[in-house]
Amino acid sequence: MPAFFYDLPFQELRALVKSWGEPAYRARQLWEGAYRNLWNEPEEFTTLPKSLRAKLGKRLNFRALRPITQRISKDGMTEKTLFALPDDKKIEVVLMKYPPAEGMNQGRRTLCISTQVGCAMGCKFCATGQMGFQRHLSRGEIAAQVLYYARRLREEGERLTNVVVMGMGEPFHNYENTLAAIDLLNDPEGFAFGARRFTISTVGLIPEIRRFADEKRQVGLAISLHAADDDLRASMLPIAKKYPLNELLEACRYYVSQTHRRITFEWALIEGVNDTPEQARLLARKTRGLLCHVNAIPLNETKGFRGRGASAERARRFKAALEEEGIPCTIRMRRGVEIQAGCGQLASRAEKT
Ligand code: SAH
Ligand code: SF4
Repeated sequence: MPAFFYDLPFQELRALVKSWGEPAYRARQLWEGAYRNLWNEPEEFTTLPKSLRAKLGKRLNFRALRPITQRISKDGMTEKTLFALPDDKKIEVVLMKYPPAEGMNQGRRTLCISTQVGCAMGCKFCATGQMGFQRHLSRGEIAAQVLYYARRLREEGERLTNVVVMGMGEPFHNYENTLAAIDLLNDPEGFAFGARRFTISTVGLIPEIRRFADEKRQVGLAISLHAADDDLRASMLPIAKKYPLNELLEACRYYVSQTHRRITFEWALIEGVNDTPEQARLLARKTRGLLCHVNAIPLNETKGFRGRGASAERARRFKAALEEEGIPCTIRMRRGVEIQAGCGQLASRAEKT
């Protein structure tokens, strides 16, 4: 099997190109072709001599991700693609479109990408967690999701504006490959997608949060909190037994001190469980002085979990209780639910039924 192109950092590509007996600058031509021009068919690399182009398909694989199905929400603003990987495992990617601000010709285009097939964290309300862990994605498999949609949008004369690492899997459980994929896409000589336009969401793996903080990256960080006390949190997120809330919040404070960036706390509002003003006040008390804001979204219901999404009224009261304590809170809209593209709904097996 030829190497998957997007798995190769530039240095490795250069070594490979040299091993073919080609001059090293061909590596640069390949890199710019793939990451700037978004070419992914050997014939497209017209900057290379014909003889090399003819051999390219046997030497490198550009197409390890095969789109299988695509679903678009009724309002046309959310779109989900199911991809098959070379071992036939499946992952899902979601594109969210937002209306343009006044005077702009295009609104935000946010892509939600996956880092694993399934997930080992087993969060009770999450469809990916309910399917268990299958495997990590490679750096190329992660980066290629972004390039696929960059290509798609370009056909419509649009550009991707943001990438959120909030699809299937726990990105900090696959730390190396996730960050390597971001580095690939960030390369100013290539795709040049700014670090600030990425946001990673983690269930709260403390050692990796600290490592991330030490790397002082400009990538945004979101933490799936969902509860302000350990017992409630552990009842939904098993990993909370290993990483208690106080230690997690300590790591969050460390992240803010290292990066001076505001941290986001995610909160899936479950009716009568974690959507109470008491939880909001407890959260405010525990995060006092921490540069943060809360992104709350009514729970998307999944087959394996009994909880219900909070009503708009309860969500509003939760937000008000937080804001009274000085914590900014956004209630996010549920999107793409009817095409199973909402938060926590991604599970490739659902497509087979
Ligand atoms: N593993 C990472 C990122 C993927 S999940 C994490 O857990 O943070 C992205 C977000 O969706 C997380 O905040 C997660 O808690 C949330 N989520 C999972 N299932 C959900 C559901 N059924 N309804 C609403 N949000 C959900
Ligand atoms: Fe994994 Fe995140 Fe789902 Fe938890 S919420 S099971 S960490 S994908």
